[in-house]
Amino acid sequence: MTEKADLQSVLDRAAEGGRITPEEALDLYRDAPLHALGSAADAVRRRRYAGTEHIATYIIERNINYTNVCVTACKFCAFYAPPKATDKGWTRDLDDILRRCAETVELGGTQIMFQGGHHPDYGVEYYEKHFAAIKEAFPQLVIHSLGASEVEHMARISKVSAEEAITRIHAAGLDSFAGAGAELLPARPRKAIAPLKESGERWLEIMEAAHNLGVESTSTMLMGTGETNAERIEHLRMIRDVQDRTGGFRAFIPYTYQPENNHLKGRTQATLFEYLRMIAIARLFMDNIAHIQGSWLTTGKEVGQLSLHYGADDLGSIMLEENVVSSAGAKHRSNRMEIIDLIRKAGRVPAQRATTYEHLLVHDDPANDPVDERVMSHISSTAIEGGTAHPELKLLSAN
Ligand code: SF4
Repeated sequence: MTEKADLQSVLDRAAEGGRITPEEALDLYRDAPLHALGSAADAVRRRRYAGTEHIATYIIERNINYTNVCVTACKFCAFYAPPKATDKGWTRDLDDILRRCAETVELGGTQIMFQGGHHPDYGVEYYEKHFAAIKEAFPQLVIHSLGASEVEHMARISKVSAEEAITRIHAAGLDSFAGAGAELLPARPRKAIAPLKESGERWLEIMEAAHNLGVESTSTMLMGTGETNAERIEHLRMIRDVQDRTGGFRAFIPYTYQPENNHLKGRTQATLFEYLRMIAIARLFMDNIAHIQGSWLTTGKEVGQLSLHYGADDLGSIMLEENVVSSAGAKHRSNRMEIIDLIRKAGRVPAQRATTYEHLLVHDDPANDPVDERVMSHISSTAIEGGTAHPELKLLSAN
């Protein structure tokens, strides 16, 4: 363990942009004073974004959950239905998906997150068909979706390699991977919460293959299902090592486990302090990843605001629809005006961004703020109640 004086020198080195080892990261994560950690991470963020360090970004997107039927049965998941549970499983048809895309465009959304279970019938062809149809109808929408787990599953169903699956869905319209399914990459915690998922090494192998095929991604981490601090830092190390080779991870997004309606009863959640420490240590340790995203959906808006002072430069999306973490208890909702306001009250200038992080609209004058209460996060009644019907979304039926 690093002595106190040494801890400060490691923190100073990290704040100045020096690379720190996993062991040093663990010591800082565990023992550095919270505000000192945040201040060092903020120094790194400000230097990386010199000239635009006063800006914090958000994106408008919609999660489209195409099915909740899943053969993988992760223990932390409150969203899926096993294939045999025919009263609980549902799928959305293409018309419904395209209608949701149309609503997204109408509300100024720029990105679609296609997210769902590992359906036993959905191979590469399913995703090719749907991505091609979305791109044909809405070429302006960026399809930032799926992750290595879905690639592994669809490749198995279609009996092709992961590389072929990636190449084909990219050609059909997928722009980038969202990094879904990373959960916790080290073997022990991963097996404990997602025993049927591919290994962490395989998840990284597929993401590396995607980067090498020209498909960039974000990366994620699920915190709070019983993993140790050392396992959290190991997760960061595994991603940083791949990033050293590919440079294909655009962002790192930690989020906290939500404990309702799943099979991990009795597990503790990550505390908000642990979450803020993670945002800060990610900024310090992952010196090769440009963007660190704060997540207000699972931690709340105030913690989202604080994350902007602990190394985060982005607050992610105003999700016009979200059902997965909401099923597990995430209750925070927001609209565009609130997100703009909370970024401003955190001392930053808000900017709507593209998937690739270019600023689309900088809100530097409150007099010109967009006023549209429909641009807000929303849970679909279909996903929560189940069934194969496609009721009108309250989102638009209210207009
Ligand atoms: S997290 Fe994804 S893969 Fe795991 S059970 Fe839920 S829907 Fe299936």
